[in-house]
Amino acid sequence: MSSQLSLRKRTALKTIALGALSMAASGLIHAQNYPNKPITLQIPFAPGGTTDIVGRVIAEPLGKALGQSVVVINKAGGGGSVGANEVAKATPDGYLLGMGTVSTTASNPAINPKIPYNPATDFTPIINLAATPNVIAVNPKFPAKDYKGFIAELKKNPAKYSYSSSGTGGIGHLQTELFKNLAGVFITHIPYSGAGPALRDTVGGQVEIIFDNVPSALPHIQAGRLIPIVVAAPQRLASMPNVPTFKEVGLEPVNRMAYYGLIAPKGLPADIVQKINAAARTALQDPAVKKRIEDTGSIVLGNSPDEFAKQMAAELEVYKKVVATQKLKLD
Ligand code: GLU
Repeated sequence: MSSQLSLRKRTALKTIALGALSMAASGLIHAQNYPNKPITLQIPFAPGGTTDIVGRVIAEPLGKALGQSVVVINKAGGGGSVGANEVAKATPDGYLLGMGTVSTTASNPAINPKIPYNPATDFTPIINLAATPNVIAVNPKFPAKDYKGFIAELKKNPAKYSYSSSGTGGIGHLQTELFKNLAGVFITHIPYSGAGPALRDTVGGQVEIIFDNVPSALPHIQAGRLIPIVVAAPQRLASMPNVPTFKEVGLEPVNRMAYYGLIAPKGLPADIVQKINAAARTALQDPAVKKRIEDTGSIVLGNSPDEFAKQMAAELEVYKKVVATQKLKLD
């Protein structure tokens, strides 16, 4: 009986040991074979915004460099936090990647204590793909067409106008609230599920003003459906040379760019991180891909996972400070 028990015990121990071994082995094989099925790239905003534009430009060449297709899906809501939370909680196997933006990783967590993820610890930053300038633009029916007239009109009619943004807590929201505080004007915030629907209603005239990232707003500006008033960029943009930067109009703190990178859930194995980072760099080095991104008014970045992690952390601090010093609150 006792020898039977010890035999059972030994068999059980052997099974456990073999299980552990095969788990370790499968982990190794997994990293070596990655990717062996299609990858999902999640956009945490509606179609038509800059996150969608950058994500869709990179998906195809990234897939080509990795040898698997990269399928883009949109998961909008909560100023990008619904999709970002889904990425944060996913299995870190490299098959669900997310677009990490300044809104989902910095401004929204800075202003909203209810964000259900920690941007500093719940993600694996992979690469920052591009930085984009931002713009305040108005519907052509708005009485002013330049910055001086814009401020004068807002001062003459406090609370008459509204502005659209890609969501509560997003860069468009926080930057415009900062602008309002510093310029001493009031406009009402109307949040959308992304810049796509926000643009649609601003072009349609339901909302008079929009704060957007340049890539999504530019086609409307070029077609005369929106009039650019002021840009957040290191210098004036070639695509709208008559439009001043926030720095020029004396509002330097508003003069910040947005960023668009790739993130994964925390715990993504380092060799998979490196593989995706290298593939994304290869994609960004393709002159056609680079041109497609630059044509939207963006600056191509393509840095290391470490550098991107540092940028995310720094931007979170910037927006925490903005929220604290300006006493910004959610509507
Ligand atoms: N405007 C972006 C979009 O709708 C989101 C805001 C951001 O840049 O983080 O895609």
